[in-house]
Amino acid sequence: MQARFHAIWSEITPKLQEALLPYMGNDDFPAMLTAKQVESVKQISGLDDHALTLALLPLAAACSIAPISRFYVGAIARGASGNLYFGANMEFAGVPLQQTVHAEQSAITHAWLRGEKKLVSITINYSPCGHCRQFMNELNSGTQLAVYLPNRPKLTLADYLPEAFGPGDLVDTPLLLDTVDHGHRLKTGDELVLAALDAANHSHAPYSQSHAGVALQDEQGQIYTGRYAENAAFNPSLPPLQAALIFMNMSVGNGQSIKRAVLVEGENSHLSQWNATYSTLTALGCTEVERHTF
Ligand SMILES: [Zn+2]
Repeated sequence: MQARFHAIWSEITPKLQEALLPYMGNDDFPAMLTAKQVESVKQISGLDDHALTLALLPLAAACSIAPISRFYVGAIARGASGNLYFGANMEFAGVPLQQTVHAEQSAITHAWLRGEKKLVSITINYSPCGHCRQFMNELNSGTQLAVYLPNRPKLTLADYLPEAFGPGDLVDTPLLLDTVDHGHRLKTGDELVLAALDAANHSHAPYSQSHAGVALQDEQGQIYTGRYAENAAFNPSLPPLQAALIFMNMSVGNGQSIKRAVLVEGENSHLSQWNATYSTLTALGCTEVERHTF
């Protein structure tokens, strides 16, 4: 079992421990449960869907990296596929707070990067902040996305974000988690650059058209990619580096051992992710950072 789950494990009921052990007992547990695994966990633990996601929250929060606030937030996103995806907040010492990742952004981006096409609900251990309510309003689930919190009735995003401003107020556009392929090409055989290009091609940037992707390689050679997720209100947009750091954290729980990083974006785009990407990676101790453009 990954070390980050050790402390919280004893607080899980024995039945749920038994149900989760076949998956969470492995060091390569990907911080998600497939629909089939969810059914097995429900059967063994005796929990229903709602009770299970609430019970998983402390485990998701154990994935939090919060050196500044020490405030550990966990989220569980449920896909239309039935899969459950963990999410947790991430903070980065040495760079502006704007680089922070919230738990809802983490769970949603995690689901997106694993190929989920639509979300039906999100469960969080604290009420979603205004920033996250706006971020979630970019999803193709719309305001009907169910939002669950401990000891609260089931509400939807529409309840948390009345009089909403969103993508529908702007251009007719694909929404977050819709399938897109922007078709950019680069002539290279470099695996990491191609991974970042693929992420850029599946990024969500309907307002600026500034498609961007990041690929990170760890000391073991594993690659983690992140796509830019633009928001109709601009500021809640999630940069591609943050998406890649989310994926890396969820996959292996170590955001600090990045050996090489590549940003791919348009040479003549309206905006560039380069300065923020470079400064945050430098703060994380990664010195081999490259920018490639299409
Ligand atoms: Zn938030």
